[in-house]
Amino acid sequence: MNDITAAITAIRKELGPRLCIMGHHYQHDTVIRHCDITGDSLELARQAAGIAADHIVFCGVYFMGESAALLAKAGQRVYLPEPDADCMMALMAQPRLACTVLETLRAGGRKVIPLAYVNTTLALKAVVGEYGGAVCTSANARIMLRWALQEADSVLFLPDKHLGRNTGRQLGLTPDDWHILRCNGRGLIEPEKQPLDRPLLLWPGCCAIHAKLKTGDVQAMRSAWPGCRVVAHPECHPDLIELCDGSGSTSFLIGEAARIAQESPGSTLIVGTEENLVQRLAQRHAAACHILPLGHNAVCPHMAKVTEAKLLDTLSSIVSGQFAPGTGPVQLEEAHCPPARQSLLRMLDICGR
Ligand code: SF4
Repeated sequence: MNDITAAITAIRKELGPRLCIMGHHYQHDTVIRHCDITGDSLELARQAAGIAADHIVFCGVYFMGESAALLAKAGQRVYLPEPDADCMMALMAQPRLACTVLETLRAGGRKVIPLAYVNTTLALKAVVGEYGGAVCTSANARIMLRWALQEADSVLFLPDKHLGRNTGRQLGLTPDDWHILRCNGRGLIEPEKQPLDRPLLLWPGCCAIHAKLKTGDVQAMRSAWPGCRVVAHPECHPDLIELCDGSGSTSFLIGEAARIAQESPGSTLIVGTEENLVQRLAQRHAAACHILPLGHNAVCPHMAKVTEAKLLDTLSSIVSGQFAPGTGPVQLEEAHCPPARQSLLRMLDICGR
């Protein structure tokens, strides 16, 4: 055990149940090994609401810490070991622009509600709550999109156009049923020339990390590993997902790895998602099967900003009560909290807590 690992272990022991460390699956193993709870966005959001600890340290990107702080109880504090770790996709949906677009879409009297992936800022979640919409994750996107389509004439899905289309397809929608909005910084470009009456309107954002994975990678792996099974996260391009044997949330991919290890020992599973998770699955099931990443270097640089050393800094600050500027508890914009909370709780209510 190195010095940093030993120091973290000692502080965890000292704080006991007053501390809870949460970690997203995309975190590095050196961080994950200290976490009390690991999960994908949905699992962590669900668990955050039930935690009793005074101090919640969230090893993930900023929007995850915001969601945990939003669901935290009075007196609980949420800390991020690296407050500059941001989700690039979340930053693609600016709240003011989303408001402008929603107003344009509703101008003709049509009922349009927003459905936002959890990978969005607090301010964007607040817009979603104000316009009667909800949040979703990749694990429950199908349930939430079905709900939203029943509630409105059109659904504005944001920010991930890939997840939106992949989910729409699962519900039987075709390319004629959706439209990727053309926007600039001021709003919709020539709205009269866009098919805005389609049921599924997609914000033009995506995850740059999953977008690195290409259809050619699937073909290359199938040639190199005949008989392999290929699964990928629905943040990947729909053309890639079409070539896969299965697709689903991070939890689905973890379950697939466990299933293949148990049911098909010696076989090969190719997993298309963030590489830290794939490498962890490969190690976990190394004795039973081969698990390989699809593509190369699909590592989220922002998730990677959280390190074991930064986790120790945060824990030391909690113990001493002394925080360097910008590293204290997550502070939320008070005005955004009620509508943002509403959009998150709507998801938890619809999907069962
Ligand atoms: S992998 Fe993509 S969606 Fe996930 S945190 Fe990184 S940029 Fe955001």
